[in-house]
Amino acid sequence: MSAAAAASGRIVVVGSLNADLTIYCERLPQPGETVQGHGFAVNPGGKSANQAVAAARLGGHVSLVGAVGEDANGNMLEASVAGAGVDVSHVRTSSEPTGVAVIAVDAHGENNIIISAGANGTLSPADVAGAADVLEGAAVVSLCLEVSMETVLAAAQAGHDAGATVLLNLSPYAEIPAALAGLADVLLVNAHEAALFLGAEVPGSGASAEEWDAVRERFADHGVQQVLVTLGSQGSVVLDSLVSHGARVIRVHPTTVGAVDTTGAGDAFTGAVAVRLAAGDALADAAAFASVAAALATTRKGTQAAYPEAADVERRLS
Ligand code: ADP
Repeated sequence: MSAAAAASGRIVVVGSLNADLTIYCERLPQPGETVQGHGFAVNPGGKSANQAVAAARLGGHVSLVGAVGEDANGNMLEASVAGAGVDVSHVRTSSEPTGVAVIAVDAHGENNIIISAGANGTLSPADVAGAADVLEGAAVVSLCLEVSMETVLAAAQAGHDAGATVLLNLSPYAEIPAALAGLADVLLVNAHEAALFLGAEVPGSGASAEEWDAVRERFADHGVQQVLVTLGSQGSVVLDSLVSHGARVIRVHPTTVGAVDTTGAGDAFTGAVAVRLAAGDALADAAAFASVAAALATTRKGTQAAYPEAADVERRLS
């Protein structure tokens, strides 16, 4: 662990681990169509495992709470996460098979994904209660929607009760109870998820600060005060209703890279935000750091194996 990590608080990620079964193709198939692929890989993935690895690579002090099957994929996933320095003492085994994600990636790095939850579906509020030792005193609790809503809600409540910053990635999108929106200190959404949450399209990256301020107000009406909207290669926007002086809308410009595979860019972004929030950064500073980390993650194929280290990000920032 780096000196910076030792000084920052613990990050607890509660959620999914999946084996990513990735096939590369020239273009993604339309419904009913078959296309020829070129290359196949099995890699460690799952949004929460990815976020945990991204955060640990960047120097975070991370624990993962999750479930895998008693199978080769489960062993592979646990080894990958532990190998990145994540504490896996709260990753338990289940009689269900390890979760899998079937991913197609086209020549432009765009993807589509189908998931079978498997063991992830067994993660329950009891697992959250069983992780009290790491949740107590956590600085950040990072959540996504690849495990049951009641588990996410229990983890958000536990994080809130522990005084942690609850970071909720609304992915894959599902409607959330108002209580969960209220417990999320920071909501992290891509443009698609933001539109689904608000029931209206969000403006493009070229929109004015006034247009984004209207979006900020709509999130605030839903009880969400701090939001990061990611816009893929167009960067991201910080919407912060808690700012009393200064801008409540901050555009984070994209880091220009030659993207090869954007799978898991959002998870790299989330893990990086978690690290910087745990170190005490303001939301906009955390987003600026995450923008570089996520961009670097798109320059290599795969997810966890593609995530950068803190030094890679610092070099790009300097
Ligand atoms: P998701 O993977 O959840 O759909 P996005 O595609 O919005 O999320 O990507 C998350 C973040 O990753 C973006 O806000 C941006 O900072 C970074 N990113 C994604 N794609 C690229 C790209 N092609 N070039 C540079 N940065 C990128």
